[in-house]
Amino acid sequence: MQQILDDIAAEMARETDRGKVADYIPQLAHVDPNQFGIAVATPDGKVYSAGNASTLFSIQSISKVFTLTIGLGKLGNELWTHVGREPSGDPFNSITILEHESGRPRNPFINAGALAVVDAIMMGHEPKETLGEILQFVHFIADDDSIRFDHKVAASEMEHKDRNAALAHFMKAFGRLKHDVDKVLGVYFHQCSIAMNCQQLARAGLFLVSNGVNQHTGMRVINEQRSRRINSLMMMCGHYDGSGEFAYRVGLPGKSGVGGGILTIAPGKGSIAVWSPGLDPVGNSKLGLKALEMLVQKTGWSVFAN
Ligand code: GLN
Repeated sequence: MQQILDDIAAEMARETDRGKVADYIPQLAHVDPNQFGIAVATPDGKVYSAGNASTLFSIQSISKVFTLTIGLGKLGNELWTHVGREPSGDPFNSITILEHESGRPRNPFINAGALAVVDAIMMGHEPKETLGEILQFVHFIADDDSIRFDHKVAASEMEHKDRNAALAHFMKAFGRLKHDVDKVLGVYFHQCSIAMNCQQLARAGLFLVSNGVNQHTGMRVINEQRSRRINSLMMMCGHYDGSGEFAYRVGLPGKSGVGGGILTIAPGKGSIAVWSPGLDPVGNSKLGLKALEMLVQKTGWSVFAN
């Protein structure tokens, strides 16, 4: 595995076409696109890594996997009255189908869906309390208490909130959000601002590798059925309108973020975190996808083969 990751990192270092860093969040526009990191955490507790695997980056929408898990824990199947579980085929920040579907977002991984999940897990609490709960959960699954929010990134998104605020107000107009829009946005921008490196993120994904149990800590996070279902949602919806392409090229459940990270789960085999800040036109890490494609070719990992 170490050899495979070293080869991938070396190949990625040679790439000249690295995509475009997200600049609609000014704080992310400063990130150097010439970085690449990859880490694989395996159920036996080992973490292999290469490249800039210990550099912190903004996990952005990868956090939606964690809030979905928290939401299912708190509300169970009732969560599905707030949000659907169908691929949207639209960009992550699209508003169009919301109108046709009475403000109920298609799935928990598009922005509208993640806002609905935040609103559902707040349950009348103040943003600070919900944020404490989210961070505590990330500490638990990653087995790492050093993980923090990046308040500069969160503030930068709040300053340029118009698009997400439009989504939230639109849902509120349909009676879909219970809490104040700015409070929901505040929680959402902070969850997206969580800073992690590839090694931490790979470890945080381990519970989805082994049927809900983090084999590194020995702790059960969720039950087996829920683990399977979250993986299914990641496969179908984790890359927005690039989900079909990701499934075709990688064949594993994954969730991307505009910070350039991708968390990918190879059930029974390992949790893979990859990061390179340059994005493709749909907002997924360009080299991240390429690197994962290389990794599955070399390992044979796929949910469609054994
Ligand atoms: N915080 C980002 C946004 O709301 C998350 C988007 C993403 O990572 N795809 O626009």
